[in-house]
Amino acid sequence: MKRILATGGLGFVGSHTCLSLLYQGYKIIVIDSLINSSFEIYQKLKKINEVLNLELNNKFTFIKGDIRNSALIENIFQEASMKDQPINSVIHFAGLKSVNQSILNPLQYWDSNVIGTINLLKTMRNNQCFNIVFSSSATVYKPKLNRMLDENSDLGPMNPYGMTKLTNEKILEDIFKSDPNKWSISLLRYFNPVGAHSSGSLGELPIGMPNNLFPILMKVALGELDFLSIYGKDWPTKDGTCIRDFIHVMDLAEAHIAALKFLIDNRPQNIALNIGTGKGTSVLEIIKTFQEVNGICFPYHFVKRRMGDQPFLVADNKLALSLLDWIPTRNIVDMCADSVKNLI
Ligand code: NAD
Repeated sequence: MKRILATGGLGFVGSHTCLSLLYQGYKIIVIDSLINSSFEIYQKLKKINEVLNLELNNKFTFIKGDIRNSALIENIFQEASMKDQPINSVIHFAGLKSVNQSILNPLQYWDSNVIGTINLLKTMRNNQCFNIVFSSSATVYKPKLNRMLDENSDLGPMNPYGMTKLTNEKILEDIFKSDPNKWSISLLRYFNPVGAHSSGSLGELPIGMPNNLFPILMKVALGELDFLSIYGKDWPTKDGTCIRDFIHVMDLAEAHIAALKFLIDNRPQNIALNIGTGKGTSVLEIIKTFQEVNGICFPYHFVKRRMGDQPFLVADNKLALSLLDWIPTRNIVDMCADSVKNLI
């Protein structure tokens, strides 16, 4: 079997996807700078496979490095070819993901997210590797009030992070047009990935002060934060709090494998797919479910709206459901329960 390169494969979504890939017998090489992860995740992934008696010999390689380092990326492709196992597909997770940080430090985001992608794509082309699944985001859309977003909805990111994702999508569109018989590209627009592997052996590793709801919920559950702040109680939604489309990270992981198979089994193409459940849940609903499911009680209070937030972001996921051999199977209760198992 040919090899897959997973950039940023030790991050939250990457590590869960690597686990699914290893389960399914894929051979993977991970490159990760560890700017938002740790070597411990690599060790955890190896351990889970050992517990399951899965033979990892030669199937899972980790290289610490930055995708902006051209020589390193070239070397990874060359070495794989020399071993007679060329990399034939890339899943490109690597990137910085904090909306707030991207507003404070846009140059860092453009440099890491866009220069890194250009570098990766040049090396892929030089090494005749034309399959790529790219981690895009629902932030590329211009939000619509109480309307679900499909892949043809207007694009219009509201922050530098979203602009870097859209720019990468445009670069991928251009290279596809330049050689439409070669490139197979899938732009996976994730909605809100949460949860963790149900074994409790892997999860999200929030480094620093998180900005997203679930990592904050976990800090509150651990007693590292005294209370939870809800940004706004007067949004035009059913209970006044924002509505999001939360998707279990293992469902998201499986979507990557389905997208990869789709690309390999079909003619070259560039396709954007929403990866969400199609169900909206409010922040208050999540908090209540999280408390009930985990038997935890903690205080929360309302603060003013946060810059850049939108009231309603829910995926119309019909295209992904129709094209991919994939369906999200885990619900909000699974997401709340699994996210905490990893902490115990
Ligand atoms: P993450 O931060 O947990 O994982 C990203 C990984 O990439 C980290 O391990 C980090 O160390 C690594 N990395 C960052 N820059 C790098 C570089 N220049 N070279 C090599 N490695 C680098 O993020 P995640 O939640 O796993 O998200 C994965 C991808 O999906 C990101 O591109 C993110 O923007 C995108 N995304 C995430 C979400 C989300 O809510 N988690 C939503 C939509 C899209």
